[in-house]
Amino acid sequence: MRIVDIRERSVPIASEIRNAVIDFSEMTVSVLAIITDEVRDGRPVIGFGFNSNGRYAQGGLLRERFIPRLNRAAPESLLDPERGVIDPFAIWGTLMTNEKPGGHGERAVAVGIIDMAAWDLAAKLTEQPLHRYLADRFGNAPAREDAFVYAAGGYYYPGKDDEQLRREIAGYLELGYSVVKMKIGGAPLDEDLRRIEAVLGVLDGDGSALAVDANGRLGQSEALAYAGALAPYRLRWFEEPGDPLDFELNAEVATHYEPPLATGENLLSMADARNLIRYGGLRPDRDVLQMDAALSYGLVEYLRTLDMLRGAGWSAEQCIPHGGHQFNLAIAAGLHLGGCESYPGVFAPFGGFSDAAPLESGFVGLSEAPGIGMEDKASLRAILDDLVA
Ligand code: MG
Repeated sequence: MRIVDIRERSVPIASEIRNAVIDFSEMTVSVLAIITDEVRDGRPVIGFGFNSNGRYAQGGLLRERFIPRLNRAAPESLLDPERGVIDPFAIWGTLMTNEKPGGHGERAVAVGIIDMAAWDLAAKLTEQPLHRYLADRFGNAPAREDAFVYAAGGYYYPGKDDEQLRREIAGYLELGYSVVKMKIGGAPLDEDLRRIEAVLGVLDGDGSALAVDANGRLGQSEALAYAGALAPYRLRWFEEPGDPLDFELNAEVATHYEPPLATGENLLSMADARNLIRYGGLRPDRDVLQMDAALSYGLVEYLRTLDMLRGAGWSAEQCIPHGGHQFNLAIAAGLHLGGCESYPGVFAPFGGFSDAAPLESGFVGLSEAPGIGMEDKASLRAILDDLVA
């Protein structure tokens, strides 16, 4: 079998929301299709990928560097020698030819897009949903058939007041979520504490049902001031207090803040994640790791990250990836992670899960469709159909 065409396109997912560091008014996503000569039910088998939100579309790198590398590769070099089908590890090796170590930035996002399409394809070729394919292939069978998700919201909007914030959070509970997250660090500390107390009012005062996210905006003294003020609430976690690569700041916060911390969504490689584990002061018994395969060289790299974590004494249960998309949901269920993020109502249609997936008590079901299951989402399917039409 061989690849007959690779198509990509940038599409907008602009929104009015803002966290402590960026607004999303210009946000874009790359969507990509790997079209093969394999035919099932009269249609070619196609793998689809896209980049996770928060980083922009990668059309330039895809068109100039990565798609040409796959197009130039001998077709048999992209096959798994045992299975005789196109394989994500072979694709990944070809993509990373002539790439130096280090400098994990936009390149990691571009490779992640193609990697997602390669895994979608690999599972479709075995006619299995990705979560079961992963569980079988990597020794985690049986896959879980649902996964913990939490509602990431509580963004700053122009003109949003505490009553609107309370209504937003109450809406997530009505949808079936049991844990919610809100943004902090985009307002002065006393204002953020007032917002947190407003939300805790909706959660019957249960701090374990609320996570807060500073999106890496705080300097060391501010981060410690927030840590001191937040500690008494016993929150689910305090996310990205400082710059994602400031491991010393993270370690300093960890020595002063006893409840769980969370970070990792802006670490774009196994090597960066390893530095976090070595130097970031995190505690395997409580802290949460949020590396997102779709932003960081894909699942091939994420499997290396999971190996590194195991070697350092961490359970996969402590991993709850960023991103709110179906790829991470399938990875979470197939590799027995602690769950994944969810963004009800924003970053559509790339955020969110299968249209039919039930959500109950904070757990969402997975798609039965072969592959990642993007075809199970009408709004996303329309974009995919248009790309390959
Ligand atoms: Mg975050």
